[in-house]
Amino acid sequence: MRTIVIHATVLTVNETNEVIYDGAIAFENGVLTYVGPTPEAVDTYDEVIDAEGRIVMPGLVNTHGHTAMSLLRGYADDLPLQEWLETKMWPLEAQFTEEHVRWGTSLSIIEMLKTGTTTFVDMYDNMDMVAELVTASGMRARLCRGVIGLCSAEEQTKKLEEASAFAAKWNGTANGRIMTMMSPHGAYTCPPDYVERIVARAHELDLPVHIHMSETEWEVQQNVNDYGTRPVEHLEKLGVFNRPTLVAHAVHLTDEELDTLAKYDVKVSHNPISNLKLGSGIARVPEMMERGICVSLGTDSSASNNNLDLFEEMKMVALLHKGHRHNPVLVPATEALRMATIYGAEAVFMDDQIGSLEVGKQADFIVLDSHSVFFQPKHDPISHVVYAASGRDVKDVYVQGTQLIKDGKCLTMDETAVIENANRMFEKLEKK
Ligand SMILES: [Zn+2]
Repeated sequence: MRTIVIHATVLTVNETNEVIYDGAIAFENGVLTYVGPTPEAVDTYDEVIDAEGRIVMPGLVNTHGHTAMSLLRGYADDLPLQEWLETKMWPLEAQFTEEHVRWGTSLSIIEMLKTGTTTFVDMYDNMDMVAELVTASGMRARLCRGVIGLCSAEEQTKKLEEASAFAAKWNGTANGRIMTMMSPHGAYTCPPDYVERIVARAHELDLPVHIHMSETEWEVQQNVNDYGTRPVEHLEKLGVFNRPTLVAHAVHLTDEELDTLAKYDVKVSHNPISNLKLGSGIARVPEMMERGICVSLGTDSSASNNNLDLFEEMKMVALLHKGHRHNPVLVPATEALRMATIYGAEAVFMDDQIGSLEVGKQADFIVLDSHSVFFQPKHDPISHVVYAASGRDVKDVYVQGTQLIKDGKCLTMDETAVIENANRMFEKLEKK
């Protein structure tokens, strides 16, 4: 089946951030076969979609999160990270069964799709369930079973085996839409020898590593107290960065630590809203950009955000660093857009497949209703997408050429049932 979308404003996010007015994209077998001006003759196509005046752009890439935690959205706000984790999140998460993960993740998948995210990273447990939901929903994901090593040696080994079995089983499945990683949760939750074992397994399986790093000052100080080094040097010594690595947060970094991340080409998932909400601080994104470090965007979970609308993250990253540094030229709109798309694709090591609309890449794209007031006057569409739009402007979503959202409605999952069951599972949790 050969499909062409015509008369659209196409944001390619290619090397030159080219915008094509009255543009078209065509695809076959899930792969883009044409990106350019609307051709005069389209009768060679099986399906012609008229997107008159609408914006067509790459699907967004959310590079850090814990989708099942959407069940805890709004349960505990306005607390410091450590207290929030230890007294609120962990006691409830300890009660999570596969059923909780099923409905929490389903809720997240529908929310992400409806707000234009087509690829997401998930670090959690019960990941077989997550992978099954990704498969059924038609979405794309980079998944890992996050392991916390604050337990007995037997338990550590059990978790490591579970994480590697998951990673080996699912990598490249769902027609290539699911890729995996190995994930020590953090340096403060995994003893050094355990981190080394996880990294060794990542080498064996030839997979990237995903880890939380330097999110709070407390965590950095704890690392110094326990191991005599700050987290970046600590993880470097443990060999983590010898694997392709994606770190979440990277808020508290020295110049030397930034240089180390640049040296190893470590990718960063910047989670500005979660970092602000938990009072963790503001990552040194301008310095990362100066050093050529790949900065992508993540929401973290809905328990600390409290939604998964990556448009909010895009606007936040464009504003936050301007305000913080008293410098309005920092993180321009084009860079914010790239962070949510092509840099996101780089951060999950899939930029040869996704992140921009270019011939040969996967047909993962979203269509925004640019007839609404937020896009008037019709002027700079990149500015409107970053500064004026929200995820609620997304009308249609395609992954690998298959339509998953049509006029704002999810075609692959039953939204009413998901909402009902998510509430039912939340009610079942025993609150303190
Ligand atoms: Zn996280």
